Amino acid sequence: MTQSQQRQDVPATTGQAVFDAIVVGAGFAGMYMLHRLRGLGLSVRVLEAGSDVGGTWFWNRYPGARCDIESMQYSYQFSDELQQEWNWSEKYATQPEILRYANHVADRFDLRRDIRFDTRVETVRYDESSRRWNVSTDRGDTLTARFCIMATGCLSAPNRPVFDGLDTFRGRIYHTGEWPHEDVDFTGLRVAVVGTGSSAIQAVPIIAKQAAHLYVFQRTPHFSVPAHNAPLTPEFRDGIKARYGEFRRTAKEQFAGVHFNYNPKSALEVSPEERRRQYEARWAYGGVSFMGAFSDLLFDRDANATAAGFVRDKIREIVRDPVVADALSPHDIIGCKRLCVDTDYYATFNRDNVTLVDIRGHRIERMTPAGVHALGREYAVDAIVMATGFDAMTGALKRIDIRGRSGESLRDKWQDGPRTYLGLAMAGFPNLFTITGPGSPSVLTNMLPSIEQHVEWIADCIATLRRQGKTLIEPTPEAEDRWVEHVNQVAGTNLRSACSSWYVGANIPGKPRVFMPYIGGLPDYLRKCEEVVATGYEGFSIG
Ligand code: FAD
Ligand code: NAP
Repeated sequence: MTQSQQRQDVPATTGQAVFDAIVVGAGFAGMYMLHRLRGLGLSVRVLEAGSDVGGTWFWNRYPGARCDIESMQYSYQFSDELQQEWNWSEKYATQPEILRYANHVADRFDLRRDIRFDTRVETVRYDESSRRWNVSTDRGDTLTARFCIMATGCLSAPNRPVFDGLDTFRGRIYHTGEWPHEDVDFTGLRVAVVGTGSSAIQAVPIIAKQAAHLYVFQRTPHFSVPAHNAPLTPEFRDGIKARYGEFRRTAKEQFAGVHFNYNPKSALEVSPEERRRQYEARWAYGGVSFMGAFSDLLFDRDANATAAGFVRDKIREIVRDPVVADALSPHDIIGCKRLCVDTDYYATFNRDNVTLVDIRGHRIERMTPAGVHALGREYAVDAIVMATGFDAMTGALKRIDIRGRSGESLRDKWQDGPRTYLGLAMAGFPNLFTITGPGSPSVLTNMLPSIEQHVEWIADCIATLRRQGKTLIEPTPEAEDRWVEHVNQVAGTNLRSACSSWYVGANIPGKPRVFMPYIGGLPDYLRKCEEVVATGYEGFSIG
């Protein structure tokens, strides 16, 4: 019997509807939030749309799915026993291994008894007279709580582009972010993958090995660097575990909250030979630390062009057909769209059974009963894999009808882009918190420590209120305005805000173009959060 078959979650018809806190989402954020709030003695209910814990790692079961932050860093640090007892098997853990870890955490801290699965939250409404939130679900019931914590994820609302004729397609359609739980075997099938972001780049090499033929529909090429994944030796693991506390502490001093070797030099101050040596060393090591080769890669276009040129040269070395190599080569800023990390992605295009369909400057015209119609012809396939990403950062929140004071809707408040104070809370929405909300470093960092920091900040805040006999906390509009202005001002200094990525909402038609995460770096952000607490929650009104 699997862990999820054994699981003891809350039955749908549980009688209790009144809680101190409701948490929406049972990914890593919701799980740890539950643990911390329980530790304060609060009654808590977690509501989760999926049928088990894990969030991202519950839903994204596509072939090749794995993290691209090294496993020893992509894990919780709140419990030393937990981080000592768990043994990651590879440099970059696979999705099944990360999901096993999430299950282990749920078992170890007995989380499931306060989680209701298969329950999607539809509306979240503030009642000013009782100072409580009413949370209604697709089960037709309403729960109520003083505090409501949205742990709904930054990359959890799948983007399903509307293609004409999609419902006429005779084969199976998959989305990487909603992959079936049963094995999907593409052996002998003709398969289309739509999209070439991180998900596609992981899935394509594996699907290519199974499929009779694979067509990869590319609207925009993404830069990718090799993972060079490998098993972790016990010696390596033990070495880190022996100084885990120090290892974690120094990671938090880094811009993205992750250990990698940052070179403080400018790419433009060194000789071409020195530059190449740096890039070669990082290419050989693998992973996103490639962008740490020089300090100005994300601040100076000329510096960035040297790294982009290096990767384009690599693509030309790997891919035999120069036309395909050119089509796979991005011509914009490296690291502007999220840098991808792959295992044999570019080499996959040397296979006879793989065709790159470069629709740059065009679009998929329609789906037909037999396949995909693009560039004036039909590509007949048996299955379509949508690797089309997510309505990132705001999607999961805006898909819920959230209403604060005087019935103000979050969708209206955010119609020109998200507005938060520290990515943690919003004016007009008292006692409602967001974990890794827009306006916090979140997706620009190693997410696990960022999640932990938010959870701990929120738990400490609630504990403080209770100690003081207070029942309400809410950012002032002025503090929120100042933070939004700061988030935008810092974004303007970084090349990452300069292209059409999901960071700015460009992947979703009609979404306002605003750089959503905070790009001032984790250390500055942590300092700001600490200062706010030290000054008695500056920028919040408490009542
Ligand atoms: P999630 O894991 O997204 O969990 C949110 C949960 O909320 C989901 O289970 C969802 O079902 C639930 N939910 C949402 N709306 C509702 C609703 N209305 N009602 C009920 N439940 C709801 N980050 C890294 O730092 N390193 C990586 O290597 C990395 N790899 C990634 C790979 C993939 C394929 C993806 C998609 C993301 C990756 N991320 C990575 C980001 C990843 O999302 C975070 O690291 C982390 O797992 C987020 O945890 P979370 O709990 O905040 O959100
Ligand atoms: P993504 O980066 O947004 O990529 C989506 C792809 O689909 C893009 O190539 C996009 O093209 C294409 N697309 C979207 N709509 C389309 C349409 N209508 N027609 C044709 N193509 C379309 O999504 P993702 O790959 O799922 O990754 C999202 C994020 O999740 C990543 O950036 C990363 O943060 C995280 N992730 C991490 C890993 C990892 O290695 N750890 C793996 C997967 C995901 P355009 O570029 O032109 O928009």
